[in-house]
Amino acid sequence: MFDLTKAIQQATQVVFLTGAGVSTLSGIPDYRSKDGLYANKIRPEYALSHDYLVEDHQGFHQWVLANMYHPEAKPNIVHEVMARISNHKGTIITQNVDGLDRQAGANNVLEFHGNLYRIYCQACHHQFDYAKYRQSDVHAEDGGILRPDIVLYGEQINPDTLNRSVAAVANADLIVVVGTSFQVYPFAGLIEYANPAATLVAVNREQIPLPPKAQLVLGEAGEIFTQLGEQL
Ligand SMILES: [Zn+2]
Repeated sequence: MFDLTKAIQQATQVVFLTGAGVSTLSGIPDYRSKDGLYANKIRPEYALSHDYLVEDHQGFHQWVLANMYHPEAKPNIVHEVMARISNHKGTIITQNVDGLDRQAGANNVLEFHGNLYRIYCQACHHQFDYAKYRQSDVHAEDGGILRPDIVLYGEQINPDTLNRSVAAVANADLIVVVGTSFQVYPFAGLIEYANPAATLVAVNREQIPLPPKAQLVLGEAGEIFTQLGEQL
């Protein structure tokens, strides 16, 4: 079996590409999985779309408060070990919008799809905190609509985040994919920028389609990173 500990020890620059599977361990459901939010009446791809925010900002506000925010969630062992490694030599590029990598102390994080707890007024761009957003999604002073700084369906990835992500992937000699089936574009497309000499590893509890030459470490990320944390 592929030796992930050894690969991390030998690597110069490690990039972690992460998805919902990392945060489910912290009690945050994956809204794309069938055990996740599909149980709710409204399809998440619509609820989290730019169109919905424009057409019904109150509905959007209620939906995200009910389904996306888990302020009580704490980083888990996977966040903690990735933070340690990436602070030393690497970057975490995450699809997750929960901010748990930063909470775990990671300094080199690219939040590809933004962060739920960064909230701003669309009219004046003033920033607000989550407590304020819970109360209202309207900025009383100018009537602007407040929204989380996340990339909604129908919106573009922040160009600076995209460029920095591409550069990090291109510079990595080890790329570790954790907790994502790697089907969401453009995130999944980042892998195309990898150096052909780089090692690509996926940690997943089930077999997933992977690019040629990629290694798969099959198992629960929580267990694998617990072991990793003890060995590094
Ligand atoms: Zn405003």
